[in-house]
Amino acid sequence: MEKDPTQGGGQARAPQESASADLADVPGSHPRRKSLEMRQRLVAAVEAGLAHPSGLTAHGRGEAFDYLLGERTVPEAEAAERAAAEVLVAAERPVVSVNGNLAALVAAELAELQGAVTGKRPGRKPLALEANVFHAGEARVRRIVECLEAAGAEGVLGRDRHARIPGLESHRALCEEEGIYAADAVLVPLEDGDRAEALKAMGKVVIAIDLNPLSRTSRAADITVVDHIARALPRIANFAARMGSPPHKGVKALAKSFDNKANLLAVRKRIAEAMTAKEEDPS
Ligand code: ATP
Repeated sequence: MEKDPTQGGGQARAPQESASADLADVPGSHPRRKSLEMRQRLVAAVEAGLAHPSGLTAHGRGEAFDYLLGERTVPEAEAAERAAAEVLVAAERPVVSVNGNLAALVAAELAELQGAVTGKRPGRKPLALEANVFHAGEARVRRIVECLEAAGAEGVLGRDRHARIPGLESHRALCEEEGIYAADAVLVPLEDGDRAEALKAMGKVVIAIDLNPLSRTSRAADITVVDHIARALPRIANFAARMGSPPHKGVKALAKSFDNKANLLAVRKRIAEAMTAKEEDPS
């Protein structure tokens, strides 16, 4: 039987050791190599205080849905990615909310997205990135900001979170006055349902990236990209970079013209069909 490379050899090891050593004997050609690398990056990020331990569980839930979708970008996700790029370019004040998992896994992709979208908005506010966490921890917020800056992002927000999102309790309400609070469009990859709903209630256009088409976040958002963050962010950046002229419609009209309910239903059908297909996996 093939050895499970995510398991250690039965001996207790220091967390730092386990983060780097577990993949040493996994060949580059291993079909789960990419996914294992991401897990290890997350483990290392938890050890470094960049991601919260519960981020591991959230990631696992995402992986399960990714598996059911064939670990690829489905056509419904592609349509949502295109719509997301349009909203980010058209918005007056677009912001991306960045938590520990995102900083750990896709800091460079976020910096690239910022560059691509900002490049299509000459003379207007750049796409802002704002560190925003579910579990309390100002040190972690600071580490997220520093991680994004190290990846090349500019003007990262999160050090001055004194505004509050109405309807949320304690630290979960905190955000920057000039960032998420004032934004007209917010991209919330890996958000929780409460905050997605609260941002909607503030009148913002909400774009989610969430592999679970059933989550409250997916259902609350105006545009939900059911795709892995590592695939979705470069694809949204690419759509933005290739955009000819900026969209004529405003963000509300763009959001209205995207049928999120129908899109999510199509993804759910796709999963259901994959689960009930008669033939064996051809791969
Ligand atoms: P909700 O409150 O919206 O119903 P939830 O409680 O499942 O959802 P969280 O655990 O806060 O939400 O967020 C994790 C969500 O992010 C999950 O729905 C999961 O599918 C998704 N997710 C996790 N990792 C990834 C990833 N790498 N790419 C895309 N989505 C992901």
